[in-house]
Amino acid sequence: MHIIRFSILKLVNWDKFGNFVSMLCLIHCTVLPLLAMVLPLSVFLDESVHVWLFIALLPAAIFGAWSGWRHHGDGKPSLLLAAGLALVGSAAFLPMSTAAEIAVTIPGSLLLIAGHTLNRRLNLISHIAGARPANP
Ligand SMILES: [Zn+2]
Repeated sequence: MHIIRFSILKLVNWDKFGNFVSMLCLIHCTVLPLLAMVLPLSVFLDESVHVWLFIALLPAAIFGAWSGWRHHGDGKPSLLLAAGLALVGSAAFLPMSTAAEIAVTIPGSLLLIAGHTLNRRLNLISHIAGARPANP
């Protein structure tokens, strides 16, 4: 008999979610300033957007790193995610110019995307390795 356990922590694919929000961050910092020259998008250029994006990125990185570590035991995704969070977080909460905020957020988002992508690949590899019959 199978017991189905529903847990919000397991229902959400934190690496996909983290990659999605990191992409929003990149779009916010690269495409929107250009679009805002021709469209009335100034509300999205508000600096508090980085705080909201960070609040979405934080659980994705923590739960993604935690569940990844439990699956594959490799610390590299956690290091990438921690470095990305540190950059995006400092851009969101430390006083700095808008240009500096963008210059810090873009590499932070790229590190987060690299961390979540590596985490997903390592998860996939460990699932395939786990499904393989053991060698005699
Ligand atoms: Zn931004």
